[in-house]
Amino acid sequence: AESFMQVEKKVILAEPRSFCAGVRRAIAIIELALERHGPPVYVRKEIVHNHYVVGLLRRRGARFVDSEDEVPEGAICVFSAHGVSPQVRENAKSRQLDVIDATCPLVSKVHQEAKRYAVQGRTLLLVGHADHEEVEGTYGHAPRQTVIVETVEDAERLDLKPDTPVAYLTQTTLSVDETRDIIGVLQRRFTDLLGPGTDDICYASQNRQDAIKAIVPRSDLVLVVGSRNSSNSIRMVEVARRHGVAAHLVPDVTAFDPAWLAEVSTVGVSAGASAPEILVDQLLEELAAHGYTDVELESVAQENVVFAPPARLTATSAGDG
Ligand code: SF4
Repeated sequence: AESFMQVEKKVILAEPRSFCAGVRRAIAIIELALERHGPPVYVRKEIVHNHYVVGLLRRRGARFVDSEDEVPEGAICVFSAHGVSPQVRENAKSRQLDVIDATCPLVSKVHQEAKRYAVQGRTLLLVGHADHEEVEGTYGHAPRQTVIVETVEDAERLDLKPDTPVAYLTQTTLSVDETRDIIGVLQRRFTDLLGPGTDDICYASQNRQDAIKAIVPRSDLVLVVGSRNSSNSIRMVEVARRHGVAAHLVPDVTAFDPAWLAEVSTVGVSAGASAPEILVDQLLEELAAHGYTDVELESVAQENVVFAPPARLTATSAGDG
């Protein structure tokens, strides 16, 4: 009898994936604010870079605005997980907005570093993407002293004397490998350089990139669930591609293209830190419909980080019964 080969179809699901502690906290803050104060709750910028999450919260009464100037005086204004500049904080204060800050504590930590180095009179080399909200916020902590460095070439071209007192900071969601190269150039070029231990890339970005590297050797295709403006999700796609595997960002299952599966035996699946698990489940269902029913988990780390929302949203009001 003639035997014909059937490709073995399989999914490797990366872990950790999906929500990080900062994103969970930011979403919880809006949910709690809606519960406590009722809609509308104004939110400056997308609370996290995920369209599904933003749409869900919008339907529940969150109002997303581009600027604090659009929030009526005295109303609640939530700052997004990506953080804001002191100028935005000042403006919100002068408009008497009731600010609830959902800035991720790991972004706030970078802001503190920026302030400390700025007070020391150092030139700040901010490694990150100039058009990203997080970089705008960090930059705003010392705008006259900060230079944004996006690439190794930028680092090579900095027009500063080698003994200039400098300090570097990084965006939290960068590519671990590229950032290491950029910092390497800075270390070579500057004799008076301070910085964090290695970089400011957060545990969640690091873990999600590590997990991609773990699934890449056995994957013919990698799919990363995440919105097109999600920095950490885009880095995950880049990590897979840099390791020689075809990879796509999948904002949601409607963006999935079955043509990607041609001659693919194993599909690696993950999700960025702002992408909810439900979107991963929908993608897995779609893959199952194409015969990829066998799902194996590949875990590189356990995440136990939890960031509590501000006390004003969780405190039970005592004695007012
Ligand atoms: Fe915080 Fe990192 Fe999550 Fe950004 S990706 S919200 S820095 S934990």
